[in-house]
Amino acid sequence: MRAYLPAYQLIVPRDLDEALGLLADGQGEWRPFAGGTDLMVLFEAGRLAHRKFFSIFGLKELRGIEEADGSVTLGALTTYAEVRRSEVLRREFPMLCQAAAETGGLAIQNRGTLGGNIANASPAADSPPALLAYDAEVELVSRGGARWVAYKDFHTGYKQTVMRADELLSRIRLPRPSQSARQFSRKVGTRRAQAISKVCFAGLAEVDDEGMLGEVRLVYGSVAPTVVRCPRTEAVLRGQTVDDALVAAARAELSRELAPIDDVRSTARYRLRVAENLLGEFLSGLRS
Ligand SMILES: Cc1cc2nc3c(=O)[nH]c(=O)nc-3n(C[C@H](O)[C@H](O)[C@H](O)COP(=O)(O)OP(=O)(O)OC[C@H]3O[C@@H](n4cnc5c(N)ncnc54)[C@H](O)[C@@H]3O)c2cc1C
Repeated sequence: MRAYLPAYQLIVPRDLDEALGLLADGQGEWRPFAGGTDLMVLFEAGRLAHRKFFSIFGLKELRGIEEADGSVTLGALTTYAEVRRSEVLRREFPMLCQAAAETGGLAIQNRGTLGGNIANASPAADSPPALLAYDAEVELVSRGGARWVAYKDFHTGYKQTVMRADELLSRIRLPRPSQSARQFSRKVGTRRAQAISKVCFAGLAEVDDEGMLGEVRLVYGSVAPTVVRCPRTEAVLRGQTVDDALVAAARAELSRELAPIDDVRSTARYRLRVAENLLGEFLSGLRS
């Protein structure tokens, strides 16, 4: 059932400080409204519980893509369209660009933000696997100051995060992958576009001139209450050269390590098979 519009308030703070002032009581009365692409779905369905929102979409402090020697930092309001257009992201962070290209349609990509995707904390969201594979960090700001949190520690359970009620997500920092890093990501849904993921994979591996694997990160989304890394399967691969036996050993370890969920979108059995196949595809591409 559709919500009753006059029951809601939406105001526009002048700057970040005023926005943080609205959150400062920590009671969660006021909530941020970024692109609104998740919030408006809830509103249309009559399931938007909070009544008071402030728009952060115009806050310059939360915009921009900045390059530094070891990292690239994105404002939380960076839209998918901006991710896709960014030269540095296309060159060094192709998995994030691919996730952006496969998120909704063009209207959603023009309005939906990376910060909103992270804060909304859906386990089926498409950016988190890439962000985790890149070892991202997120900055949380409040009137009390700012803190950086490793993205691996940000999601604590289904739709649960370490972000406090008085905090806004302000920036996302991506360490630049090494020259030897190879990247592969894939979203599997019911159809090729405009579908919620059944399994979403991002893999990053450093490969030296002899084909030996160094750092390996394997990340799956849409298979558990939060996005997950697979440290045991990564350990099987680290220090090895890819051949048929290693691919089989990694697939076997993954089948023991990953325990996908059954839900309305898919079954645990299907998800595990797809997850193994995606790992196999990634590793096959690493053979020298
Ligand atoms: C048709 C359609 C298709 C979609 N397809 C996909 C898809 O393929 N893949 C996918 O992952 N998602 C998809 N989405 C979901 C949505 O577009 C994304 O999650 C988007 O990134 C949300 O960003 P937003 O700025 O619109 O967030 P909003 O809707 O404005 O906010 C979402 C939540 O995050 C909070 N929030 C937002 N910004 C901040 C911040 N800076 N700090 C703290 N809290 C904040 C809000 O309070 C709210 O709780 C789709 C949505 C629609 C309607």
